[in-house]
Amino acid sequence: MKKIRVYKRPEWDEYFLKMAMLVSERATCPRMHVGCVLVRDKQILATGYNGSLPGQPHCYDVGCMIEDGHCIRTIHAEMNAIIQCALHGVTTEGATAYVTNMPCTNCTKALIGAGIKEVVVFSDYHKTKAEEFFEASGVKIRKLPMPPKTISYDLESFTSAKKIDFDKK
Ligand SMILES: [Zn+2]
Ligand SMILES: [Zn+2]
Repeated sequence: MKKIRVYKRPEWDEYFLKMAMLVSERATCPRMHVGCVLVRDKQILATGYNGSLPGQPHCYDVGCMIEDGHCIRTIHAEMNAIIQCALHGVTTEGATAYVTNMPCTNCTKALIGAGIKEVVVFSDYHKTKAEEFFEASGVKIRKLPMPPKTISYDLESFTSAKKIDFDKK
């Protein structure tokens, strides 16, 4: 019998958590990079990362805006994901939030208010009421180990892939 290529497909949790990690690369504040992916029925509703208000300068360009030890310049990842849903008329009811870090207290309140039913994280965040509020609202929290940081993209070994010849005139 012909041997079939061994390939370990990522499980759904790994897939969406890696997606959240990838999204966080777009963050604009050097103090922390956070990514959030809102998911329902294995479909991505929206993504968000912590970034400045539309049209306003980024922390990476002009420095952070510190108040009480926190940078307050950015809209947080979870808020941005919810805002994207609002902008595009997508309901967040019953969705799962995959977030790189445990949400801050304000984002926790927004997620609960938006009808999020489950939060999946692999990293904690300091001084947050998240666990207390989520628990009181019946939102499930799942803490998973950080997924592998490498995302494997192996186009070269797939026989059906034909590389584009950019030298061809
Ligand atoms: Zn900042
Ligand atoms: Zn937040």
